[in-house]
Amino acid sequence: MKTVFLENGIEISDRQEEQFKQYYELLIKWNDKINLTAITEYEEVLRKHFIDSALLVRSEKFNEAKESSVLDMGTGAGFPGIVLAILSPKNKFTLVDSLNKRIDFLKIVIDKLGLDNVEVFHGRAEDYGKDENFRNQFDFVVSRAVAELPILLEYCIPFVKVSGYFVPYKAKKYEDEIDSSANAFEKLNCSLEKVEEYLLPKEEEKRYLLYIRNNEMTDSKYPRRAGKPKKQPL
Ligand code: SAM
Repeated sequence: MKTVFLENGIEISDRQEEQFKQYYELLIKWNDKINLTAITEYEEVLRKHFIDSALLVRSEKFNEAKESSVLDMGTGAGFPGIVLAILSPKNKFTLVDSLNKRIDFLKIVIDKLGLDNVEVFHGRAEDYGKDENFRNQFDFVVSRAVAELPILLEYCIPFVKVSGYFVPYKAKKYEDEIDSSANAFEKLNCSLEKVEEYLLPKEEEKRYLLYIRNNEMTDSKYPRRAGKPKKQPL
């Protein structure tokens, strides 16, 4: 496992390797009972979930920041949030998902792996986005495979500190999503500052991290009530 991480520019310790092994075992064990992932073969989980989720720790902008607070919205089985928490113990991670079974699974993972830098919360982005304890509180917000950008911006930007970044993990059609997000960028006072491109070994498709800067406190109108951002994207 260490070699695969190294091939992708990430050095992991013995403890981190052990944590990833435990995480894989728990994923497979619980996947039979609750639907966590369609990918179960070890090599594939390693590349498509672990290495892919780890992209952010290769990023200069993320590494420049010291002791950041990071929110993972729609974390599912912990991607990218748990992977980043294993790799980056100095940062604090908050993971949110609307499916309670997945949150229960994540509590088991956190306990077994001894992660003391992660908190998990069950609920929807639209509801936590109104909560003062969450609103405009995070240096970085990340999200992978949750929604198209115009919807995702409304889910995620309200959590980002002013001058902080929302960093969605995206695949090749991200440019179309940017085009259809002009109104959302304007209404939510945010702007695309940078796109980082990655090609993972053995993968044909490139992956992209978009750095979207939150320029101002979010208008209290946003996020709109639960379900509305998806039904009627900005
Ligand atoms: N991020 C994980 C990954 O990359 O494997 C999970 C992706 S899964 C396709 C989408 C997840 O987003 C689900 O676990 C779902 O429950 C969660 N989700 C969808 N809409 C949400 C919302 N409005 N608020 C919070 N979580 C949401």
